[in-house]
Amino acid sequence: MAYQTTNPYNEKADKPFSECKPEQLEAKLEAAVTCYDSWRATSFSQRKSILTRAAALMRERSEQLAGLITLEMGKRIAESRGEVALSAAIIDYYAEHAERFLAPEKLPTKKGEAILESSPIGVLFGVEPWNYPYYQIVRFAAPNLMAGNVVMVKHASNVPQCALAFEQLMADAGMPAGAYTNLFISKDQVAQVIDDPRIRGVALTGSEAAGAVVAARAGQNLKKTTMELGGSDAFIVLEDADLDLAVKHAVIGRMGNTGQACTASKRFIVVESMAEQFLSRFKAALEQLKPGDPMDEKTTMGPLSSETALTNLLDQVKRARANGASVVVGGERLEHSGFFMQPTILSDVDAGNPVYKEEFFGPVAMFFQVPDEDAAVHLANDSPFGLGGSVFTKDIERGKRVAGRIETGMVFINAALSSSPELPFGGIKNSGYGRELSAAGIQEFVNKKLIRVA
Ligand code: NAP
Repeated sequence: MAYQTTNPYNEKADKPFSECKPEQLEAKLEAAVTCYDSWRATSFSQRKSILTRAAALMRERSEQLAGLITLEMGKRIAESRGEVALSAAIIDYYAEHAERFLAPEKLPTKKGEAILESSPIGVLFGVEPWNYPYYQIVRFAAPNLMAGNVVMVKHASNVPQCALAFEQLMADAGMPAGAYTNLFISKDQVAQVIDDPRIRGVALTGSEAAGAVVAARAGQNLKKTTMELGGSDAFIVLEDADLDLAVKHAVIGRMGNTGQACTASKRFIVVESMAEQFLSRFKAALEQLKPGDPMDEKTTMGPLSSETALTNLLDQVKRARANGASVVVGGERLEHSGFFMQPTILSDVDAGNPVYKEEFFGPVAMFFQVPDEDAAVHLANDSPFGLGGSVFTKDIERGKRVAGRIETGMVFINAALSSSPELPFGGIKNSGYGRELSAAGIQEFVNKKLIRVA
């Protein structure tokens, strides 16, 4: 069965779900189109009251929703609760601010009057990943529902219970049928939905490979897309960094969500004078982590999301070694039930090593030593990705200058990356295009319509 829960801690498969039959998919598409006609005509305050209820329900159901995340993809329970809280905050943020973000704007013009209106464009389709099962869909659904669009979501096949719990939550909050629709569909049906003229825009969060397929298909249909893809964020430690802070954030940045985050810190680039100390303290901190049941509060490292994820990561480490990389720590599967990988640091990864330009989607850090700031920036930018990055220095103005030279969509000074409703999220280069969250995130799928009074 394509859509099924497999517990990554005990490896038990459960709850298969059938894919949509053609007539079911057609009925869902029709319901979305019908709903759009009435939903677009509702006022901001009507939409706000439903979304505010959805956020409140998320908080009320936090234990159940968080438990499903942990069950299906292995996130530690405290992190799962954090994800539910952040998702509710994003819904509230758009409920509160959408009307202001989309208010008609009077444009200065030489003659007459010019107004720029922001109107909805119709039924949107989102393809979403498993690594943050609610946060990813909320980033797409909340702004677009507030804008007056309706959304259909194909969630990742390993988190079907999260997908259904969220759809149910939206219905319970009072969302009319067709405003938020979960689709258990095959990849062929994804293509069919993208081709369907009733779909007006497509958003994908996931890998470069999936992004390329979905963006190409949407492009053939002249449909606007946003792409939130992979990353290999640099974590730069300069010679004037606070080492305690850098090591603390290195662990958060690489090990949060067991390393399965697009904006996880993946390449640790440390100036020579700090390199030895940083590496030994980072290694010691990783060795302290306690793998175990992600439902147990005492566990500090959870499993990877699936057997395939683990196999792919082990294979990448094997290829790295075969091409000259050294293993500072880890590198193997953990002797433990479940899909566990040892926290790993690789060094001596030179530019000719195929993994140098790859993303490690799990607890594997690449460590590089560089002579100075310029070399650090050069190495940070020598990547096909351009999502995020971090710079550690006690001199904030210097940190801002270095951040300005890094070719990514986001750079944090003295912290690993994190996400907030009011801050734009997205990348450049192979990390994709478009932005989610903040005022920018609600502008992606609206018609910026000029109304001119001559
Ligand atoms: P993935 O394989 O690309 O899956 C993401 C979604 O795309 C899933 O719903 C998947 O469905 C679907 N999909 C995959 N191939 C497809 C195809 N050929 N046609 C249509 N749909 C397709 O991604 P993943 O490996 O699960 O997730 C990890 C990747 O996502 C990493 O690269 C990570 O960096 C990136 N990511 C980026 C962001 C961001 O905001 N920039 C956030 C999170 C993750 P199935 O599950 O049915 O295969």
